[in-house]
Amino acid sequence: MIELIDVSFGFEEKIVLKDINLKIEKGELCTIVGPNGSGKSTLVHVITGIYKPYKGIVKLFGREDYREQRRKISFVPQKVSSFNQLFPISVKETVLLGLVPQKGFFKRFNKEDFKKADDILKKLDLYETKDKQLGKLSGGQQQRVFIARALISEPEILILDEPTVGIDSKSEEILYNLLLEQKNNNTTIVMVTHDIFAIKDYADKVVCMKDGEILTIFGAKEFSAKKYKQIYLTD
Ligand code: ADP
Ligand code: MG
Repeated sequence: MIELIDVSFGFEEKIVLKDINLKIEKGELCTIVGPNGSGKSTLVHVITGIYKPYKGIVKLFGREDYREQRRKISFVPQKVSSFNQLFPISVKETVLLGLVPQKGFFKRFNKEDFKKADDILKKLDLYETKDKQLGKLSGGQQQRVFIARALISEPEILILDEPTVGIDSKSEEILYNLLLEQKNNNTTIVMVTHDIFAIKDYADKVVCMKDGEILTIFGAKEFSAKKYKQIYLTD
């Protein structure tokens, strides 16, 4: 579903990803770990197609030209800050925006769309907030709204960058159950995370990064907290 072959990327003079080779099969949940600054966010931006590598090949859905398939990809970026109090958009509207890539900009939302929004908001325990302004919600609630926006389109590839930062353990549980549900529907999931428990319980593949390179890739069951420490805490 996702294949990177000798991919390198950088910002101006600075090389951030070096010769990345990675293959993620359909229906896999792949986690990406590594210290801050190791290139995890940059890597997921390359996978989504937001950043174009200066070297190497990115294939999604088995093809190099995946423009037609772009609408089947959803991305929840790493949260940098919360939306301002005055940001004039409601929770429900934010979630509906997740359908725009599929519907196109000029189509009105219909009954079915509103039902989809209601359903996903209920699943994420946000239904009561649906008519509130996004900016009035807590940081953790806003994060869940962005997850709802990514899921409403029923993506075939779902990419999440540190989705559980700032959310409480109940919401975390809700999120992981939703991810498992997606996985059972054969959605391919890429998640950047520091959550070792989640990795142990849910990951089919653990990509360990450092300084823009993949140090090692563990399969399901191979990963342990001990190995994680060996990689990152010994020098
Ligand atoms: P991680 O997500 O693992 O913390 P990032 O991918 O965000 O790491 O960053 C990797 C490196 O790339 C860092 O050294 C960071 O400073 C640099 N970097 C990230 N984004 C930019 C940018 N837009 N312009 C220049 N350098 C950047
Ligand atoms: Mg990051």
